[in-house]
Amino acid sequence: MTRVATLPGDAVPVTERFRITQWLRLGAVGLVLLCKLLAPDTLLPDRHDLVPWTLGFLCLTGIAEVLARTLPRRTLLLFSGMLMVDGVWLAGASWLTGSTTSPLRYAMLLHLGAVCLLASYRTGIKLAVWHSLLLFTIRNMVAGHVLSDTSPANLTGYGSADHRLAIFIVVLWLVAFSTSTLSAINERELRRRRGDLEALTSLAEQIERTDDSSSVARTLLDAAVTTYGFPRGVVLASSEGHLPVLASYGLDEDVARRPGRPGPSLVVGQAHESKATVLVRGLDTEADPWLARLLPGAANLVVVPLSAEGRSLGALVVEHTGGHRIQRRVVTGLERSASYAALALRNAWLLEQVQRLAATDGLTKIANRRTFEATLEREVARATRSAEHVSLVMVDIDHFKGLNDTHGHQAGDEVLRNVAASLSCECRDFDTPARYGGEEFAVILPGCGPDEALDIAERLRRAVGAAPSIVPITASAGVATYPSHAGDADTLVRAADEALYRSKHAGRDRTSVSEGVPPEAQVDALLRRAVSQRLGRPAGSDDADVVTPTPRGSEPS
Ligand code: GH3
Ligand code: MG
Ligand code: MG
Repeated sequence: MTRVATLPGDAVPVTERFRITQWLRLGAVGLVLLCKLLAPDTLLPDRHDLVPWTLGFLCLTGIAEVLARTLPRRTLLLFSGMLMVDGVWLAGASWLTGSTTSPLRYAMLLHLGAVCLLASYRTGIKLAVWHSLLLFTIRNMVAGHVLSDTSPANLTGYGSADHRLAIFIVVLWLVAFSTSTLSAINERELRRRRGDLEALTSLAEQIERTDDSSSVARTLLDAAVTTYGFPRGVVLASSEGHLPVLASYGLDEDVARRPGRPGPSLVVGQAHESKATVLVRGLDTEADPWLARLLPGAANLVVVPLSAEGRSLGALVVEHTGGHRIQRRVVTGLERSASYAALALRNAWLLEQVQRLAATDGLTKIANRRTFEATLEREVARATRSAEHVSLVMVDIDHFKGLNDTHGHQAGDEVLRNVAASLSCECRDFDTPARYGGEEFAVILPGCGPDEALDIAERLRRAVGAAPSIVPITASAGVATYPSHAGDADTLVRAADEALYRSKHAGRDRTSVSEGVPPEAQVDALLRRAVSQRLGRPAGSDDADVVTPTPRGSEPS
């Protein structure tokens, strides 16, 4: 594949620029030859050397064309080299047609202007130096009689050759500076716009790699701050209507760590209502207390609404320091980034919702069996690494079938929800309460030894009994500890379940501690684990790997 050569930082490939200059050369050569043919007196004095000199230049142009086609990687070199050749041809042609009085000198000004606009202002300045140098050299060679003087003999009223040269060089530099300045302004603007576009592309790529809402917000804010240099900014957004801080930059450390209860914001509301960016000089602490707390003393805020599919999600709020005026280009850049991020936020929330649904039990909203098994595996692995305990409590509501039969399944469901809520309240932050199945719950207690586990299990069991219910309920519990009663996660479940079974046997409404699983069960579990690992499956990923608890249906009543 042919690589397109480009000048560093330029939008138009150098091959295209080179092609344009080649056409201009052909045009210039054609014009000179046409003048020579049709109006030979125009190019005074009538010297025939101009034709071979111009044809020589035409040959070089042709060679450059062939080289550019055969060596496309060298186009940049050819482009610069041919600009210098142009200078030599123009200087020579000017000398041949009357030195400082030649009408061809004006082609130098055109050449300079075209190059400033086509290449860059830097190249234009370099070319002005080159043209001046050539003109001085020729003037000195004429003065030193190395070259003959080609200016018309009786020139009156035009000043001396040196004066004419000086005036022409001043004009040349004026052209160089004025075109360079205009070209520099255009170039700067183009570069800025290209920078903005690149920032937007990079934001899109980064957001593509994020999969949670906080990372999306962080990426959006980082991109805004890095591209436009804002000193402070926040992303306020949620799927539920209020406006918590999803990401912040430049906030007071205290506020950033404890932003407080999110509240509504007047300016964000205005931005959503008008579906447009709102520019605010300052914040009214009474009308907008939440934003004023986050950005105390804020001046010149840009509030960009975040919305996707017609739903308001929040806002990107940044403070700019460039006075009351903010460039339209900056606002447009922020709006584009925000609309892209808003879509990504909505997708991230959808994904989070799906993941939450997959991990929690639909009725009780606590961890489901799948999450329970994964968490237990992880905690047992962690306990093994750090030589700590992990305990498991299994709690089963007594005679729950009777409650269902008497008061209906909806009443039963309500009790299950209340029991789950009571268990969650009773647990420490790092414990995992889960619905194991039916009316049976499991609680994983990381870092908890056998003695402590019994107390906690009893407390949890009592909490279940105290949960709001249509009729008073009791519960039975079984507790087992790794590594005291079991050698892995599977056997730990079996041990806790056997302990629960013993509580049921002993008359219910009590807690029993595991007596440990028999050694052969431990060996079985370890063998299964080894086979799973050999097959490349994580232990516990298949039903065959899970030690299923004793069916409750076979229990005595
Ligand atoms: P035991 O004291 O031996 O545990 O007796 P039990 O009646 O609680 O146990 P059993 O296993 O005989 O019955 C469990 C009951 O739990 C049967 C079933 O209707 C009920 N159950 C299981 N899941 C749900 C549920 O999601 N909602 C409701 N309402 N009931 C459920
Ligand atoms: Mg039961
Ligand atoms: Mg049961």
